[in-house]
Amino acid sequence: MITGSCLCGTIKFEITGEPSSLSYCHCSRCRKAAGVFSAVLIGKADDLHISQGAEQIAKINPGPDWKHERCFCPHCGTSLGDLTIGDIYVVAASALDDDPKIRPMAHIHTASKPDWYEINDGLPQFEGDYIPEK
Ligand SMILES: [Zn+2]
Ligand SMILES: [Zn+2]
Repeated sequence: MITGSCLCGTIKFEITGEPSSLSYCHCSRCRKAAGVFSAVLIGKADDLHISQGAEQIAKINPGPDWKHERCFCPHCGTSLGDLTIGDIYVVAASALDDDPKIRPMAHIHTASKPDWYEINDGLPQFEGDYIPEK
């Protein structure tokens, strides 16, 4: 099991089962909400369990172009990711307290990456979404 929490400890979550991917997302939402980019852990929605503070999770959806809400702690501002989208979870790996054992496999949404940030590793880069085959 992989556990996670926000900075102030109000919100805690657990992930059972194995995540399907860990990627660095460079979309404009991650840039502004998480700082430059965020590491996003993706897996089956049924494997994500909010164990504490579920009713306190704040959600923001600033416009019709957004496909889903972004979740964060209203007390400390910790970015939690999108949490559940349909049948998958998208969790900000920065909120994890355990090693998810999986390692980053790609950079995604690089079309939105700021020019001043240069990617210096050998991971594959995708201008948009990339959901690996499982
Ligand atoms: Zn918090
Ligand atoms: Zn993103």
